[in-house]
Amino acid sequence: MDALINYFAEMPTAHRSAVLIGGLTIFLLIENAAPLFETKYNKVKHTGLNLFFTLTTIIINFFMAFLLVFTADWVVANEFGLVQWLDLPAIGVLVVGLLLLDFFGAWLAHYVEHHVKWMWQFHVIHHTDQNIDTTSANRHHPGESVIRFTFTIVAVFLVGAPMWLVFLYQSMSVALSQFNHSNVKMPSWLDNTLVLVFCTPNMHRVHHHYRQPYSDSNYGNIFSFWDRIFQTFAKVDNKKLIYGVDTYMNTKDINDVMYLLKIPFAGYHKPIDYDQEEKL
Ligand SMILES: [Zn+2]
Repeated sequence: MDALINYFAEMPTAHRSAVLIGGLTIFLLIENAAPLFETKYNKVKHTGLNLFFTLTTIIINFFMAFLLVFTADWVVANEFGLVQWLDLPAIGVLVVGLLLLDFFGAWLAHYVEHHVKWMWQFHVIHHTDQNIDTTSANRHHPGESVIRFTFTIVAVFLVGAPMWLVFLYQSMSVALSQFNHSNVKMPSWLDNTLVLVFCTPNMHRVHHHYRQPYSDSNYGNIFSFWDRIFQTFAKVDNKKLIYGVDTYMNTKDINDVMYLLKIPFAGYHKPIDYDQEEKL
């Protein structure tokens, strides 16, 4: 346990980059070997666009990182936050801390982004992708990257997370997001087992269906518990899914980087009112 804490407390930047690039490479290979949906789109162009948004996310995270380090050091020095007050042993800090960071920093952040109009205008760029694969994981408007980072800082503050836990959480968060966006076809026994604890591709893809109520389900990133607890969990035969978002379905627009960057400032697109609720 001490070795784990020491490693993540001083996790080198090169190792953090390796998680991102390594994860991307592994899941690209797996989804190419066993894809759920056949690739009918220009994968190079699609990857290029999504990597542009991954790069802007990395840059923003880099410039905001000092705030995260400051917060983590402050909560430890002042014994502030849930895991500090509970006075847990290291393994308890690991388990409770990871669960709560995933809740505040990912599930709640994501839920709020879907329910607060101006935040949705930034998050919708992630949903405009009509071909979900592992590169979709970090397709975030720079404005959304700032929103998500702010939620992470608040999460670290409330949880009382030390820096080693933050680095461990961020590594898991990156890897799980790449995993649950990947276009991999998994045997149902494996998915049914993994989804008891983790957000699997079969679970997360439902969130990328083009219309509500499915796009307002399965908000989780690492752990699947939160969607079950808050009754936002949905199970759907993935072959019936249509990716994208109904308010931005023009394929030319949603592959245009300038169009995507301007979406948050170009006026709110009201949700489409359907006559009937869709049942997949
Ligand atoms: Zn979403």
